[in-house]
Amino acid sequence: MKKVLTTCPYCGTGCNFYLLVNDNEELVGVEPSANTPVSKGGLCIKGWNSFQFVNHPERLTEPLIRKAGKLVESSWEDALSLIVEKLLGIQSKYGNDALMFLSSARATNEENYLLMKLARGVFHTNNIDHCARLCHASTVTGLAESFGSGAMSNSISCFEKSDCFFVIGSNTTEQHPLIGTRIIKSKQSGAKLIVADNRTIRLARMADLHIRHKNGTDIALLNGIMHVIIQEKLANEDFISKRTENYDAMRDVVLRYPPERVAAICEISVNEIILAARIFAEAKNAMLVYSMGITQHAHGVGNVKSCANLALLTGQIGRVGTGVNPLRGQNNVQGACDMGALPNFYTGYQKVIDSNIRDRFAKAWNVDNNSLSDKVGFSVTKAMDKALDGTLKAFYIMGENPVMSDANQEHVKKALENLDFVVVQDIFYTPTCEYADVILPAVSFAEKDGTFTSTERRVQLVRKAIEPIGEARADWQIICDLAKRLGSAEFNYSKPAEIMKELASLTPIYGGISYDRLGFTGLQWPCLDINHPGTPILHTEKFSRGLGKFSPVEHMGAVEPPDAEYPFVLSTGRCYFHYHTGTMTRRTRLLDREERFPYVEINPIDAKKLNIKDRDFVMLKTRRGMIKVMARVTDVIPVQVLFAPFHFVEGAANALTINTCDPEAEIPEFKVCAANLWRAE
Ligand code: SF4
Repeated sequence: MKKVLTTCPYCGTGCNFYLLVNDNEELVGVEPSANTPVSKGGLCIKGWNSFQFVNHPERLTEPLIRKAGKLVESSWEDALSLIVEKLLGIQSKYGNDALMFLSSARATNEENYLLMKLARGVFHTNNIDHCARLCHASTVTGLAESFGSGAMSNSISCFEKSDCFFVIGSNTTEQHPLIGTRIIKSKQSGAKLIVADNRTIRLARMADLHIRHKNGTDIALLNGIMHVIIQEKLANEDFISKRTENYDAMRDVVLRYPPERVAAICEISVNEIILAARIFAEAKNAMLVYSMGITQHAHGVGNVKSCANLALLTGQIGRVGTGVNPLRGQNNVQGACDMGALPNFYTGYQKVIDSNIRDRFAKAWNVDNNSLSDKVGFSVTKAMDKALDGTLKAFYIMGENPVMSDANQEHVKKALENLDFVVVQDIFYTPTCEYADVILPAVSFAEKDGTFTSTERRVQLVRKAIEPIGEARADWQIICDLAKRLGSAEFNYSKPAEIMKELASLTPIYGGISYDRLGFTGLQWPCLDINHPGTPILHTEKFSRGLGKFSPVEHMGAVEPPDAEYPFVLSTGRCYFHYHTGTMTRRTRLLDREERFPYVEINPIDAKKLNIKDRDFVMLKTRRGMIKVMARVTDVIPVQVLFAPFHFVEGAANALTINTCDPEAEIPEFKVCAANLWRAE
C-alpha cells in the first residue's frame, strides 16, 4: 500500500493525512498523520472520507462543448481553441473589462496565482474574484483596516493555551471540528467559554455563558460589552495608549450603548452583557473566535471591526492564547486571497492601484507595464449585476459553483444566462455547468501537487497520490495550455514548485517559502526570506499597519426584517457532514447517508402553531423564491427564527437569500432575511 502525505481538501483547519493507494493505483482510504502539527493524529468525518469522491463515476473526464444547446464530448484541442477564439473575440469587440474570471478556494495557491496572472497579465483586466467574497471578504477588509492584515492573528496551537474563548458567529465543532475539539479540551482544563449565537450549538451547551442575541445585532452586543468594560475600568489603558489610535472616536460611540439599550436591541438580559464583559476583560489570555455568523452580513465589515475593537480595548492580541481569530471556511480560501484572486490586490495584498507594484509584476511577467490595469475590478457579487446589465460578456469559472453558493439564485441564473460565453472548469458537473458553453475536466486534490494555505496562514503541501482520472488535467496545466495558445511565453512551468518560486519572488509575505522548506509541517506567513522561520502570531510588537486602529461602529438594523407576510428570520449556513455546495460531500456515500435531505430548523413552539411535525416536508419561502425542505423541529433554534444549510441542490437555500451587500466588502447578507413556511401538501 502506497501512503502519500497530503492536506485535507475540506475546511480551512488544514489537517494532514495519508492517502492510501493500492497496487492498482486506486485510492482506498485515509490514515491520519500523528506527527503533523494541526491534526496530530485526528481527523473529522469529512477528512476520513475525503478519498471517496475522487473515483466517483460522475467525475468529468473529457472536455464538453455546447452545440445546438447540447453538451457534446470534445478534444482538448477543440475546447481550448474555442475558448481562445471566443475570449479574444469578446475582448477585441467589448474591451478587456468585458471578461470576468472566478478563481477557486478549492484550487491550489499555484493555480490561483496562474489564473490571476492570466486575467491580469494576458487579458489585462482586474476582474477576478472568488468565493472569499461570500465568506470572509468582511474580514479581509475589516481586519486590514484595524490591524493592517486581514488574517487570523494567532495559531491553532494557541487554542490550547487560552484562558478564555469568546466564540461569536462560529459553530466551531461542526465547521472546524479539529479546532472545536481544542476549545472543548481547553474548557475541560478550566478555560472560560462565552458563546454568542442564538442557536444552541454544541459549544453553547458547555459554555459558562451562552448569549442568544437576535440575528444581526452583533455590533450592538459588542458595543454593549465594551461599554461595560470602559465603565468598570477594565480596559487595558497601557495597551491603548502605547499600541492603538483613534480610541476616543470609538469610545464616544460605545458610550451610547449602555447595557439597557443593548439588551433591548439584542433581546437579551443586561446581566449577560455585564458578565461577558467581565469574563473577557479579566481573563489573562482571551481570544475572539468568529466565522461567518460575523462576516456574512450587509454590515459584515462593521461586525469585524467591532471584534477588532474589543481585542484592542482589552489588549487581548499579540500574545499566545489571545487574538482575533477568523476561521476560514474552505481549504484554501486564505491562499486564494493571498494569491491575489481579488479585484483589488495582486499577491500578498499588494494594491493594483499602486504603479510601483504594477511595474514589478509587469517586469516579472515580461509584459508592458501600461498593459496592467490600474482600475479595481469587479467583485463576484458586482459581476452578477454587470452580467445582467450587459457590461460583462464572458465568465471563466475555475472550481466555483455560483448558482449554488451565491445569494439570490434567480439573480445569478439570469446573470449567467445573459452572458455571451461561459467556461466552467471543474471536477463534477455542477448546477453552474447548465450555463456553460465549454466545460473543462479538472483533477481533484489527490491527482496533483501544489499547496494550500490554512486558516492559520500555514502553507502546506498537497501531494499527488494517483494519476488523473480520464483525460482530466490539473487546473494549473489547463491555464498554462490556454495561455500558450493565447501567445504568452510566460507560462512555461514543468511543475507547481516552479510556480511557487515565481510567486514567492513577487510576494513579500511568501518570500521565504519554497517546496524544499515546506516538508512535514509547512510554514506560516509572513515568511520573509529563506532563513525566516515563519510567523505563528501576528502583531506581537506592533501591528502590521503600525498602530492598531479603533473604529467607531454603530448598530445597523436588518436589511429585510420580518413582517406580517414573512414573519420568520431565516439564517443560512453549513452542517457537519457537508461542505460548501455539496459537490464532493454529496458524492461521498457515508456523508450523504448521514445528511441526505435539505432541511430547515424550526422551534417546537412555532412548529406546533403551524401544525408541522419533525420530518414533515414544508414549503420555505422568501421574496426571492421558494423551496421544499424537511422540517427539523428542534429547540436548538429560537422561536421565530429558521436555519437552513445551503449544500443541497434539490432545496437550494440560496434560492431564498438576499443579495444586498456590505458596501465596503460587497459580501451579501446570508444570515438575515424575512421568510415564511407551511406544511407541504
Ligand atoms: Fe479536514 Fe477540516 Fe475535518 Fe480537519 S477539521 S479533517 S481540515 S474537514
